[in-house]
Amino acid sequence: MSTPPDKRVAFVTGGSRGIGEAIVRQLANDSMHVVAVARNSEKLAGVLAGLTTAGHSVEALSIDVGDGVALAAGVEAIIEKHGRLDVLVNNAGITRDGLFMRMEDKDFDDVININLRAAFVACRAAARSMIRAKWGRIINIASVSGLIGNAGQVNYSASKAGLIGMTKSIARELAGKQVTANCVAPGFTTTDMTDVLPPQIREKVVELIPLRRFGSPADVAHMVAFLASEHAGYITGQVIAVDGGMAM
Ligand code: NAP
Repeated sequence: MSTPPDKRVAFVTGGSRGIGEAIVRQLANDSMHVVAVARNSEKLAGVLAGLTTAGHSVEALSIDVGDGVALAAGVEAIIEKHGRLDVLVNNAGITRDGLFMRMEDKDFDDVININLRAAFVACRAAARSMIRAKWGRIINIASVSGLIGNAGQVNYSASKAGLIGMTKSIARELAGKQVTANCVAPGFTTTDMTDVLPPQIREKVVELIPLRRFGSPADVAHMVAFLASEHAGYITGQVIAVDGGMAM
């Protein structure tokens, strides 16, 4: 199946649940063909079945983004199949929290590999097609932790701060070809990632959020959809926090 010539194609990593699932739903609603990527193919199929039934154009790709060869091949296969890749959202992310003095090298490396290196690999694989089309939107999901740090997240904060620096550099390299690259930096958002927080920690966190609540995946997805749209063509190299005011 190839997409109609006027239909934009989006590639969203971590699209099976949480923020990524909300992004997949939003971009599909915005009439894009959306490729949702995650490891768990059953979970992906469940999300996409509902969207397909509702008439949306979506497909699943089961890949571990930590495998750079498989990820690059996945991006290239989508470009080959559809003849284009307009929007890349690097959203897949993991945490391996712990105090930095006790952190194992593997917990540092795993987080950098999934949160930062995979985004680099996907951006590089997607860029040529966007440059050729003289239109492209790269949106990397960073975090408030990459902006202000977070105790217990030295690996995660480093990966997200790295993502921000990488995105700004890509934005500078690709601006001449009308390809934009931006970060969205969510604050505490209600997903599986934050469901593990004990109630007393959640209460303390909410006190640090000026808007006094966790965000929803849809809060983040709306910003991603805007950055992916025609309306955001003059925005590049930015970090937009969707964090209830936490990092202001
Ligand atoms: P989540 O609920 O844990 O979902 C993570 C998604 O990434 C899932 O679809 C998961 O699917 C996929 N994923 C994880 N490892 C993967 C791998 N190796 N290969 C392919 N897919 C993988 O996370 P979330 O809370 O929605 O977070 C999404 C993004 O927002 C992350 O980058 C996170 O750092 C960022 N963020 C989240 C918050 C928050 O409070 N939730 C705050 C700031 C930033 P599989 O497990 O099936 O692979």
